[in-house]
Amino acid sequence: MAVTEFALIDHYFARIGATRPDVVLGVGDDGALLAPPTGGELVSASRTLHPDPASGGQGPAALARGLAAGVLTDIALARARPAWATLALSLPAVDESWLEGFAGGLDEVLGAADVGLVGGDTTRGPWRVTLGAHGQRPAGKPAPRRAWAGDLVYVSGELGAQGLALLDRYGEIQLPRGARDLAHHALDHPRPPLEALLALADASAVATLEDGLAPALARLLGDHGLGATLYADSLPAAPELLPFLDWVGGRDFLLSGSSGLTLAMVVTADDQAAFEGRCAGLGLACHWVGLVEHQPGVRCDA
Ligand code: ADP
Ligand code: MG
Repeated sequence: MAVTEFALIDHYFARIGATRPDVVLGVGDDGALLAPPTGGELVSASRTLHPDPASGGQGPAALARGLAAGVLTDIALARARPAWATLALSLPAVDESWLEGFAGGLDEVLGAADVGLVGGDTTRGPWRVTLGAHGQRPAGKPAPRRAWAGDLVYVSGELGAQGLALLDRYGEIQLPRGARDLAHHALDHPRPPLEALLALADASAVATLEDGLAPALARLLGDHGLGATLYADSLPAAPELLPFLDWVGGRDFLLSGSSGLTLAMVVTADDQAAFEGRCAGLGLACHWVGLVEHQPGVRCDA
């Protein structure tokens, strides 16, 4: 991409996301020069995807939003505030409409999170996109809280919409219009729960529900030989989507299907009132959905 590389970078990627005073040199130089505050800690994470524009899957803007929301959430899961991002892009040929869409989606999510795109690399090759993110947190944070039997399990929003959208998108089910729009919106416009994580993750064990609630909890709790019982009637789902759960295994789908960047949070019972108060203060619709127990595995009470 030798001839057009600089023009391409300048056109699409030189002004993505926030302009930050701690970016001394950003896109356009040999390396980014950043000025983190002294005495803090840096957290880095990255995510890669292999776009397949011929597949009829998510369009470039939605791909970018999902990638950016995911990697910023990874930083916040480590209890750091994301600040900078880098983009490594490999594409077989310059595809302007794809680049336009991708850059737009990236700008939307990075800008809303006050994250600046500070550099990257662009090469000709098979489709691949890697987004790195870097964030800051105060030094000396104690280890995150682990879960104990008797703790309460909360989720930060409704379950299963993203999983239904994926099945619909890949033709396994065909949702009717209204339900379809709702599910696809949840999948294509993920909102990274950054403020929630920064406010709540010091006092709770937290995971995202990209792979579903049951696997997320199994990972969180299994490390300590614990399990959980979930209250089937308390599992929140959009009423518009409830009729279609029967197509995909019923309410179990709320445990096994993707719920995107919705969070599972495990808090101590003593902290319940304070936790719910903090959620209300954040405008976060938290639902108490289960109880941590000594018996390994994740099960439903009905
Ligand atoms: P070259 O490969 O010709 O040396 P560079 O890779 O150094 O060029 O890229 C030039 C500048 O553009 C650098 O600041 C680099 O970080 C930035 N850059 C390259 N590709 C991207 C991209 N996809 N997104 C953001 N910045 C990029
Ligand atoms: Mg390069």
